[in-house]
Amino acid sequence: MRLECVVCGTVVLTTRSPGATGPYPICHAVPCRMVLDQRATMGEAAFQRHLHWRAKNTREQRARARAEDERLQAWTEAESAENAGHWAAVEAVLPGHRPDQFIRLALPSGPARPRKLAQRRRQHYLDHLTAVIAQAFLPGDEVPPADTVAVDARSTLPGQVCALCRGGCCTRGGDTAYLSADTVRRFMAQQPHWQPAQVLSAYLDRLAPKTLVGSCINHTAGGCALPREMRSDVCNRYLCESQKALLERLDEAPALRGVVVVQRRQDHWSRHRPELDNGIVGSATITESGISPWPGNS
Ligand SMILES: [Zn+2]
Repeated sequence: MRLECVVCGTVVLTTRSPGATGPYPICHAVPCRMVLDQRATMGEAAFQRHLHWRAKNTREQRARARAEDERLQAWTEAESAENAGHWAAVEAVLPGHRPDQFIRLALPSGPARPRKLAQRRRQHYLDHLTAVIAQAFLPGDEVPPADTVAVDARSTLPGQVCALCRGGCCTRGGDTAYLSADTVRRFMAQQPHWQPAQVLSAYLDRLAPKTLVGSCINHTAGGCALPREMRSDVCNRYLCESQKALLERLDEAPALRGVVVVQRRQDHWSRHRPELDNGIVGSATITESGISPWPGNS
């Protein structure tokens, strides 16, 4: 017998599952069960009204989430089809192109506009650093986290891909750059005799006079203002989908000769926002010897 949860409408598969019997079949979701729990404390008429309202709300919410999923799905499919056309156009003019020696990647775009660093941002950064440095200097037996700053030495391609993107993932760094007490402890392991004030200066001294609009406080036109050993674990470890695909491909045969890139306008975090134009802004090929913009770029 097919029963539906009275709140959310999910099919409750078996009449033997708890709560599935009686006048109010209910699924396993906690919010649905909480609605039913209120029956004990309400009159039957009040409970009926409450149930009706909650059921309507829950189902409307689910319908909105479903619509959003479908929109995203359609959007992704349309972008994929458009990417495929551009990749093919780039490959058509690549001398001696062999599809098994190149990987196709789509990249977002990092911010490009520099602006004088606002005092308010600097202050916010200073406050954050002061707090995490103080925390890092607290007595405790924490072992500094393992060093995670190793970079792939096999190929220049991952670094070049990041350079072409210009930090499309860095924009969430804000005024705190994901820096934490763990980052400070890791950095301190290399300078065991430093005092908190010296650590603070090391970070503040690296702030650039101009940072990129809408991005991390350490994001400059020349890349990250911090050397890898001073960056957060988040920054050192993060890989976007395209980087992951590239690193996986580098492990496989035949050897990779290069990357065919289609680049889109928005950064990594804004690329699915329906109100923003995420059109293609350029295409390029990247090999170990460098980046060549596709001549068809407008
Ligand atoms: Zn339910």
